[in-house]
Amino acid sequence: MRTHTALHVLCGVIWNGWGVPVTGGNMEPLTARMDFEFDPLPPDFGADVEKLVNDELDAARPIAVSFLPRAEAVLDADLIRTKVSLIPPSVEEIRVVDIVGLDKQADGGTHVRATDEVGRIRIVKTESKGKGNKRIRIQVEDS
Ligand SMILES: [Zn+2]
Repeated sequence: MRTHTALHVLCGVIWNGWGVPVTGGNMEPLTARMDFEFDPLPPDFGADVEKLVNDELDAARPIAVSFLPRAEAVLDADLIRTKVSLIPPSVEEIRVVDIVGLDKQADGGTHVRATDEVGRIRIVKTESKGKGNKRIRIQVEDS
């Protein structure tokens, strides 16, 4: 749960700061990677994004889970950005995970109740996986 929430915070910070969407990711307990459409990564990106994410974790933003009718969800800009359209049409009610004020996504996962329950993150590595695809590896640590 901590790692999953940390990834949503990372997505929100990167979208708000650089306007860059996610292209993929993978998660294990307390360690994860996520790919973004950067080309190239900005200078000092790792240190900058680590600080921004940890500031958001410290801010103890509440995480709200709700359900929206599909017809409404497909009109929400945040949910469009995070590809609500890829959810199978048979799903009529969309589960929404909202890190209030930071990141809102259609999501089936379990999360902590507020961002300060994550602890801290450390950017372990950034690497290029090709044009428009840069990988960020994070570790979740106790604060
Ligand atoms: Zn998620």
